[in-house]
Amino acid sequence: MTTTRFAPSPTGRLHVGNIRTALHNWIYARKAGGRFLLRIDDTDAERSEERYVEAIRADLDWLGLNPDAEMRQSERFELYQNRFNLLRLSDRIYPAYESAQELDLKRKIQLGRGLPPVYDRAALSLTDADRARFKAEGIQPHWRFKLDHDAPIEWDDAVRGPQRFDPATMSDPVIRRADGTWLYMLPSVIDDIDMGVTQVVRGEDHVSNTALQIQMFQALGAEVPRFAHAALLTGNEGKLSKRLGSLGVDHFREIGIEPQAVRALLARIGTSDPVEPVADMAPLIAGFDFSRFGRAPARFDEAELAQLNARILHQTPYIMVADRLPAGMGEAEWEAVRPNLSTVAEAADWWQVIEGPVDAPEPAEDDRAYLARAAQVAETIDWATDPWHALTAALKDATGRKGKTLFLPLRLALTGRAQGPDMAALLPLIGRDRTVARLNG
Ligand code: GLU
Repeated sequence: MTTTRFAPSPTGRLHVGNIRTALHNWIYARKAGGRFLLRIDDTDAERSEERYVEAIRADLDWLGLNPDAEMRQSERFELYQNRFNLLRLSDRIYPAYESAQELDLKRKIQLGRGLPPVYDRAALSLTDADRARFKAEGIQPHWRFKLDHDAPIEWDDAVRGPQRFDPATMSDPVIRRADGTWLYMLPSVIDDIDMGVTQVVRGEDHVSNTALQIQMFQALGAEVPRFAHAALLTGNEGKLSKRLGSLGVDHFREIGIEPQAVRALLARIGTSDPVEPVADMAPLIAGFDFSRFGRAPARFDEAELAQLNARILHQTPYIMVADRLPAGMGEAEWEAVRPNLSTVAEAADWWQVIEGPVDAPEPAEDDRAYLARAAQVAETIDWATDPWHALTAALKDATGRKGKTLFLPLRLALTGRAQGPDMAALLPLIGRDRTVARLNG
């Protein structure tokens, strides 16, 4: 069964880059009729916080990206230890004793000689006696995974196409610290194996990790999953900005962005498909295909998100928002004001306009008589069908006014604003009595 996973570290809130990765994983699983898992990468006990675990769950829930199951790395240490022991037995893991300063010095010397800063595997030539001496001195080893240098590492990336790495140009990755804690690399592979992950979908910052992890899958005798590495997001300014790192669900909610808009944008940016105001996930799922992803960074534009949000709201049925509207605001009111909304919260302003009182500006001198006349007409027209057209047609005949001089004084007196929803939709909701009263000033 197709299985994907989203694997955030609970060291902070999700930002739009993470959210996009979660969405890709979710959509891919839904399209294949498979499973979407949430894996909490909390091996780093010091930096991981429970409040972030809760926030990740809540954010995914708001986004409508609910996982089929959740697991946590901190509950799996014993399983990691078992695999560690196996890899030890097959000599794919070895202890190394260099301090951070020593490693740093080695790198500097290599760079100084124009060589790539690849770990020189000095620890592999230590004798039992050397190791015993370190032990006697109380120096604990950290542990490296021994890359197999015999053949290139290759995979066909669903986004990037054929990939090829020469393992001899890569350092044997440290997988466990001297204090026994785990680095991300090996636990992730063990989890992917145990959870039957078939497709690893993540950002291209993980491409070189993938090369290393492929050898770990192989060393553990497991099938290597398929990989898809999406190009990263950039802000308007070009690079992955600080701003993007702080944009998350809290911010979106605060400024009135709907989850549908976030999904519609993040599912499509960076692909060859157009961003469209679709509230429904079905077409986004149906058209999703990594072969449509570009290799260039995807540009995330907050203004585009706001625009998409508005366009989605303009089609949103009442039933979807009813519980967020002011008490008493019904379907007709929603449909009348919805074409003018950027956010659902703005509906309350128009509800206030309908219900009154409205704070209308003093009418211009030569509009006073016109408005008084309009009030009289408003008392006599038929309110059952299309009062706005009845009112304006009668006023046009009676006064000879047309265009802006005909409409604008009415709109101002009736709504207190120069712009807004279609008056033909609004007037029946304002109703006869309030209309007459407002026109009389
Ligand atoms: N916790 C890792 C991260 O957030 C997971 C990477 C992965 O998807 O394997 O970068």
